[in-house]
Amino acid sequence: MITIALAGNPNCGKTTLFNALTGATAHVGNWPGVTVDKREGVCKKGDKPVTVVDLPGIYSLSPYTPEEVIARNYILDSKPDCVINIVDSTNLERNLYLTTQFLEMDVPIVVALNMTDELDKRGDRIDSKLLEERIGVPVVRISAFTGYGIKDLINRAVAAAGRPRKGISVLAGTSISDAVSQVADRMNDETQSPVFHAIKLLEGDSVERSVHKKSASYADKLLSEFDDPLFGNDIEALVANARYDYITKHFSPALYRKETGNTLTRSEKIDRVLTNKWAGIPIFAAILFVIFHITFSEDFLFLGAMGLLGRAWGAEWVCFEGNAYFEGLFGSSAGIMSPGVMLANLLNGITGAVQGGVSGGLEAAGAAEWAVGFVGDGVLGGLFAVLSFLPQILVLFLFFSILEDSGYMARVAFILDRIFRRLGLSGRAFMPMIMGFGCSIPAMINTRTLADAKERTSTVRVIPFFSCGAKLPILTAMAGGMIGAFGVGDAGLITFLMYLAGMITAFVAIIAMRSTTLRGELTPFIMELPNYRMPGFKSTMLHLWDKCKHFIKKAFTVILASTIIIWFLSHFSWNWTFLSDEVMDGSILASIGMLIQPLFTPMGFGAQLNSAGWVFAVAAITGLIAKENVIATFGTLAASVVSGFALDEALEGVDAVEALIGATGVSGAGCIAFILFNMLTIPCFAAVATARGELPKGKFGWTLLFWAITSCSVSAMIYTVGQFVWPIAIWLLVLAAAATAVVIWNKKNPLNKEIKSA
Ligand code: GDP
Ligand code: MG
Repeated sequence: MITIALAGNPNCGKTTLFNALTGATAHVGNWPGVTVDKREGVCKKGDKPVTVVDLPGIYSLSPYTPEEVIARNYILDSKPDCVINIVDSTNLERNLYLTTQFLEMDVPIVVALNMTDELDKRGDRIDSKLLEERIGVPVVRISAFTGYGIKDLINRAVAAAGRPRKGISVLAGTSISDAVSQVADRMNDETQSPVFHAIKLLEGDSVERSVHKKSASYADKLLSEFDDPLFGNDIEALVANARYDYITKHFSPALYRKETGNTLTRSEKIDRVLTNKWAGIPIFAAILFVIFHITFSEDFLFLGAMGLLGRAWGAEWVCFEGNAYFEGLFGSSAGIMSPGVMLANLLNGITGAVQGGVSGGLEAAGAAEWAVGFVGDGVLGGLFAVLSFLPQILVLFLFFSILEDSGYMARVAFILDRIFRRLGLSGRAFMPMIMGFGCSIPAMINTRTLADAKERTSTVRVIPFFSCGAKLPILTAMAGGMIGAFGVGDAGLITFLMYLAGMITAFVAIIAMRSTTLRGELTPFIMELPNYRMPGFKSTMLHLWDKCKHFIKKAFTVILASTIIIWFLSHFSWNWTFLSDEVMDGSILASIGMLIQPLFTPMGFGAQLNSAGWVFAVAAITGLIAKENVIATFGTLAASVVSGFALDEALEGVDAVEALIGATGVSGAGCIAFILFNMLTIPCFAAVATARGELPKGKFGWTLLFWAITSCSVSAMIYTVGQFVWPIAIWLLVLAAAATAVVIWNKKNPLNKEIKSA
């Protein structure tokens, strides 16, 4: 079977084309750097099946970034039968820069003019026949998005694969062309693609020079006598300039732009606002807040908040809360619920009914007490506790997918680059971080786009702090439970603040690492901003499914198995007798929980809690397997350890947490500390395994230690501050007053003035 490689600039639609050709569902994103590694599939769209390889996006074939090295080595070493060079036709000239480099290799090339649907919409036109004549290789108009031209493309690529091609250079006729042909002639017997290698050697490409040492010194000899009137002997600049000149002279005539009076494109207009130096970050924060509000808030229209204000000012008429209109599925005493919460409640109603029905049915059929408890609490309680968060995860990820696909996230990376530089990171690190909100595993793999090993290590370490989908149930359930138990707060706000706390921890940790153990150089961050695009329905849904399928799969495998084990350990004593709910404290699990409980005392959810408090310790430990386990553990255990609930009563998610808060007497600060502990501590097994693979040798053990220490110290700090707000505030005031006094005294002290003036 012949092999066809897809190559092109970042964001030109390689992965979309790859998916269209192979029927794969690889991750498509409207930002550069989504595909870091190459990927293979089989395409049956043409007349015969071919192997298709999706390469990472590159702007040139110099060895400056890992992507460039992967793509270049693949084409030179693995020798695909044909390279399809995908060109974003809405950005023709810039994309053809890479094409001029591919032309220099001894490999059949077919140019695919992609995004022609968008080009048509703009009213621009490309004469592909003319372009084909000028470039000298087949040029096919396609739209990876709509499927237009794809079959034709594959057939022409297969045809081209059968005809060997010699590399040609667009540098002919420039001052360097003699040197190029002399070096290339020398290298003819030594290697394939001599023209390509010759140009790279003359440009001073370090990788090439170390491989072809003899020819390199020959090139040096030629260069010592070389002097261009414009560029001197800066060959790299000369070559780049010559390529652009050639493109404008010979390729650009194929492009007809629609005449418009307005010089700003739509994207540029939007960008004037969204990437504004001052407004950019506040807008991003506002967008995030709105997303969290729509997903998590129980008070969607701020009716509850308005009521509180109204009461304070004596305006009773704005007090909607408690209004019977809003009670029920769509509202609560707090106001009208957000769409995310409504969906969650709907699902909870269904799962609650199923759980109640099954338990009730078993009881009615005369099943033993342990069997009813096992099925109701153990299996269904744990499973539903996790699944009940699926609606909110879906809503949140839907928004993230839209932000990503529309091209906005790439802007955020650009806006943040300025700040990131101060922290010691490049804007490139933002992409893996944002991916971390979905799942740490692909995010850690994506750090391969970071060229510097130390920057990479520090980014891998903080990725878990960008709370992933599996940690979301912890946030939501704890926030909801806290509001129920303490009677104050807003779930959307608490969740938002927790995400923020994770991010702040990440940035503080980055600063600390980059200025101590992981100090290093920063490479410049070059990123082209993609055009804004309406996210496609199919790609958004694929994206969503991609993010949720792991969650669902995990729920029915790892989580289900863990809940069953937890149920058994919590309902049997060491001498293997079944325990009823009243004497759960004698169970195997309870005694293990109580043993490790003191570890969590400084964080507010340890030994200071009442009898059922060991559940928090157990949940924190089970979370190390998978973070969903934290809430599954609550779901499995709550109805049993909290007295006053019937066996068939559904108690999961928010209700379970609320009951546990009441029974254990954990404080609000303890709850927040618990969330932060789970968010910042060692991530799930799968993520730990990934980190192990991605980190350089010798860094893995330190990374585990880093996670353990960060989570313990941050949550202990939050607990201490929250628990002792007043004493701490008073001490801080005293300290501040003392410091001020010292400063003032120093200023007044004549001795000091003398020292300064001396
Ligand atoms: P890659 O970085 O080259 O792999 O690019 P992707 O395949 O991830 O695509 C980048 C963006 O361009 C995504 O938002 C795609 O939905 C969009 N896209 C890809 N091909 C087309 C096309 O033919 N027409 C339009 N309008 N959009 C496209
Ligand atoms: Mg891609």
